Amino acid sequence: MNLIDAYGREIDYLRISVIDKCNLKCFYCVPEEGACAAYAEHSMSLDEIEKLVKIASSMGVRKVRLTGGEPLIRPDILELISRVSAVEGISDLSLTTNGIMLNKMASKLVKAGLSRVNISLDSLDPENFKRITRGGILDKTLKGVYRALEEGLTPVKINVVAMKGINDREISNFARLTLENDLHVRFIEYMPINNEHEKQWGDCFLPLTEIQGLCEEIGPLKEEKIFQGNGPATYYRIDGAKGLVGFISPVSRHFCAKCNRLRITADGKIKPCLFSLEEMDLKEAEGREEDIKKMLIKALKYRPDPHMVDQDPRGRFNCNKRGMLQIGG
Ligand code: SAM
Repeated sequence: MNLIDAYGREIDYLRISVIDKCNLKCFYCVPEEGACAAYAEHSMSLDEIEKLVKIASSMGVRKVRLTGGEPLIRPDILELISRVSAVEGISDLSLTTNGIMLNKMASKLVKAGLSRVNISLDSLDPENFKRITRGGILDKTLKGVYRALEEGLTPVKINVVAMKGINDREISNFARLTLENDLHVRFIEYMPINNEHEKQWGDCFLPLTEIQGLCEEIGPLKEEKIFQGNGPATYYRIDGAKGLVGFISPVSRHFCAKCNRLRITADGKIKPCLFSLEEMDLKEAEGREEDIKKMLIKALKYRPDPHMVDQDPRGRFNCNKRGMLQIGG
């Protein structure tokens, strides 16, 4: 039985948070005191993740993304990639990373079976990068970006959360990066995820139209139709550029009608929608295949269309205290 929800949307994509610890402390994602090590102890095991992916594949899932937390700090990440990439039916295995460890690990990741990476990078200025990540070193991530290109983890996508007063002055510099580099630089609207960040979100949110305007400062953007399944980005090319600029607008122009994914939190809960409160705890299935299948099917009932995050100011911060770190961005 395939995974099709009440709105006829077929789920062929699983995003799995493999750890809820991170080696950076981005101010909008990770608590100041850092991600508690105890979280990591509840992470799903290699066997549990492999089994889940096999079951999901038998129900039509073809794409898997490993995320976190920072997936590259999980000690058994290479083994995990090798097991997941070997699952029959999985044709695309990608990973979202802050890139800090990518320079050292890229070739091993390729050998293990990883197809491609998305790298989060919110500033091209070393001081601003350090401020946003609370101590991160820009050069490490940049080296990771270029190593990923060399190793063929392509297309290499750079994810930039665009925030007013934080990195809006750098948006045109990010777009300029595509002139000489075959990168997909994607600007993402800051999402209201963590209820502790309500004021901060109000102060920093930058809508798609403004982000796009800032990119156009360096030249007109020409829409580029690329095959990308049900990916949320719309892509553009600046005249003569090697790479592409993309925009992802979960808040001001949601793409729920195309949503083809389920998320699994690091502690093994199915999240029907990034913004949903409901979660199904896979641990309750105690590894029984039929029960895991039932839970995946149950999750479909809780998938909204649309998520209403743009329309319901009170419901905006509806994920309690779970941030992206735990949910898996
Ligand atoms: N550590 C990995 C990384 O840095 O890419 C993966 C996990 S991180 C939670 C995944 C992505 O979520 C990052 O690109 C981060 O910028 C994004 N993110 C976190 N909180 C967000 C928010 N409130 N709105 C938009 N993106 C967010």
